[in-house]
Amino acid sequence: MERKIHISAGREYDAYVGNGLLDKCGEMCKRAGLKGKVAIVTDSIVSPLYLGRVVKSFRDAGYETVSMEFPAGESYKNINTFSEILEFFARSELTRSDFAVALGGGVVGDIVGFASGCYMRGIDYVQMPTTLLSAVDSSVGGKTAIDLTMGKNLAGLFIQPKIVLCDTDTMRTLDESVLADGAAEALKTAILGDYELFEQLENGVDLENINDVITRCVNYKGKVVEADEFETGVRRKLNLGHTPAHGIEKRSSYLISHGRAVGMGMAIMTRAAAKLGKMTQETADRILRAIENCGLSVGCPYTAEELAEVAMSDKKRSGDSITIVMPCDIGYCNLEKISVNELEKIFALGLENK
Ligand code: NAD
Repeated sequence: MERKIHISAGREYDAYVGNGLLDKCGEMCKRAGLKGKVAIVTDSIVSPLYLGRVVKSFRDAGYETVSMEFPAGESYKNINTFSEILEFFARSELTRSDFAVALGGGVVGDIVGFASGCYMRGIDYVQMPTTLLSAVDSSVGGKTAIDLTMGKNLAGLFIQPKIVLCDTDTMRTLDESVLADGAAEALKTAILGDYELFEQLENGVDLENINDVITRCVNYKGKVVEADEFETGVRRKLNLGHTPAHGIEKRSSYLISHGRAVGMGMAIMTRAAAKLGKMTQETADRILRAIENCGLSVGCPYTAEELAEVAMSDKKRSGDSITIVMPCDIGYCNLEKISVNELEKIFALGLENK
């Protein structure tokens, strides 16, 4: 039986986590009150794996369906694909009483959410996450975006989905490296506020308890988003490790994936916290081991100066200060406003090996 997490942010919606949801998605959308034609958008890797079952489920539930795919990968989360999706919606004669389905990882979820928010000034959409990262993080909370040539996620909208359907069986076909990307965000949630989740992850991801891991993460994210939908306060905590991570991603020309960079970024912030006396060395060592056990790296190929330079142009910076997330214990982190000059020093502390 799937687990249901109710989220009340902008609009009320439910996120379901469980096995076999690909075959029940049509019925579940019907129960959620979704009507009209269904436009399913996916990528070229997910399409041969799961699109057929999703189309069948919607048709069995009485929906008319249309579908399209675009090539898999972050480099396609761009304005061209965005435009192709909008043209596909228009060609399919979608109206405001129809809806879209994002079937795939964070790339599909982000771009389809954004296109749904723009098409005819907004149609409903459903998130069907098929990667661990999208299951534990990007499918919930309504942040949608595409990348521009100047940087990642520079154009987008806050628009909540109508329902989130996470079939955890899809985690079984993920490559190890894609699974590790998601583990970074799950571990982030654990360090932010869930000690038991940390215990479940500290020896690595175990697909046997993946339903519980995803449910805990969605629960946590749902609560944070309810408290601060537009990221002006507590939601910024979800950026633990992300300030250095953005620098790492950008410096690598995005060859280092988001999840991998978040792992490195959390390692930097953890070492810095221990050096600054905000966290015990014992706890820091435990977090660093957990990051490695999840298949991620705790080393970083860039200098503090290189990372700080990117952070200076970060969209999260305001004036001469920047808010960083300081981990203090497993399950407890603080938001700290620091001057941009201090940032490089913190990164330098975090990059030293003991
Ligand atoms: P992704 O969507 O590129 O998926 C990674 C790879 O896995 C792709 O090649 C994809 O085709 C493949 N794949 C997907 N599901 C599969 C399955 N079940 N089996 C086998 N292969 C599968 O990447 P991602 O890591 O899911 O998401 C990263 C994106 O999420 C980034 O663009 C990032 O900016 C965004 N993101 C958004 C938020 C948010 O709040 N909106 C939060 C975090 C990250």
